[in-house]
Amino acid sequence: METKTAMKPIQMVDLVGQYRKIKDEVDASQRRVIESAAFINGPEVKEFEKELAAYLGSKHVIGCANGTDALQIAMMALGLKAGDEVITASFTFVATVEVVALLGITPVFADVLPGTFNIDPEDIKRKITPKTKAIVPVHLFGQTADMEAIMAIAKEHDLFVIEDNCQAIGSDYTFSDGTRKKAGTIGHIGTTSFFPSKNLGCYGDGGALFTNDDELAKKIRRVCNHGSDVRYYHEVVGVNSRLDSLQAAVLRIKLRHLDEYAAARNAAAAAYDKAFTGISGLTIPERSLNSTHVFHQYTLKVAGGKREALRKHLEERGIPAMIYYPVPCHLQNAYKTARFAEGSLPVTESITHEVLSLPMSTELDNDQLAHITASVKSFFN
Ligand SMILES: *Cc1c(COP(=O)(O)O)cnc(C)c1O
Repeated sequence: METKTAMKPIQMVDLVGQYRKIKDEVDASQRRVIESAAFINGPEVKEFEKELAAYLGSKHVIGCANGTDALQIAMMALGLKAGDEVITASFTFVATVEVVALLGITPVFADVLPGTFNIDPEDIKRKITPKTKAIVPVHLFGQTADMEAIMAIAKEHDLFVIEDNCQAIGSDYTFSDGTRKKAGTIGHIGTTSFFPSKNLGCYGDGGALFTNDDELAKKIRRVCNHGSDVRYYHEVVGVNSRLDSLQAAVLRIKLRHLDEYAAARNAAAAAYDKAFTGISGLTIPERSLNSTHVFHQYTLKVAGGKREALRKHLEERGIPAMIYYPVPCHLQNAYKTARFAEGSLPVTESITHEVLSLPMSTELDNDQLAHITASVKSFFN
């Protein structure tokens, strides 16, 4: 008798499945680091920084402890200080806003575009004041924000641009003259996270900053290293934020697969698109015209107040689906202000009620995709 093999359980991200395919290499790399005892600032970190710089086409890559630190270090290296204003999106993971607040800088929120979820350059323009010092676009869910427009605004008003590239590493942005650049390499500084579930994730915490500016690279390294260039001599107030060698060794291996991982994510997204196109009340993620998508998340919009019912319907069928993000930063208890009261960012507020992200990973197989797409469709039939 023929038995049908059971479908693998579905997870939002399948990191163990991904590890199994590179297990021998990863295990050997970890042993190599342990036996060298070069745990901090060892050759693996230096090599990874060089390899990532080459992949991105960025002059400098500087490792640090996590993506949140990367943002804070970027702002410290640029000399942003209390009283300055930084314009960013409210529809993002809270880290972006948290570090702004920690440094005493005033976060000023611009609304996002309803289709791509990325920051709206027209609203950035409306939010500029004499105190504005920087723009922090977040390349949300895997697509680069409209960097051509953002860089033009920054140039006109003499502002710094820090790209929060925690979700879009590997995404390509094309300018109107045909020039292509990797997300995170267009502004003054780009930042990323190697949190395990990110597109380039390690097996713990990690992060990095990118820049093409030699002087800024020096300042970034100094801030990361207790404000010091020469041991026990401290030029500025810094932090202790390092990428460790065990993580760098994993990242070197995974970097070689990054484009293939993005292709696997795009294949899953294409299967979702095909199944969901034309379902009334369900909107598939809009593709930006000038950016490739690396699908950190595949995020649907569910109209008519049906999101929770759909999420439950999927859960009952063994399918996790997540809401990124249920509450925008400007309405979080920690960051509420009179200026950004409810109603102040209408697009952001409306999409927080509609977004639903489906399982997305490099390991989704055809059985799993068929089960997910059939389950979503059965909800709407
Ligand atoms: C993950 C993430 C961060 C923070 O990265 P950590 O490594 O977890 O500190 C910051 N911004 C965005 C947009 C993120 O997705």
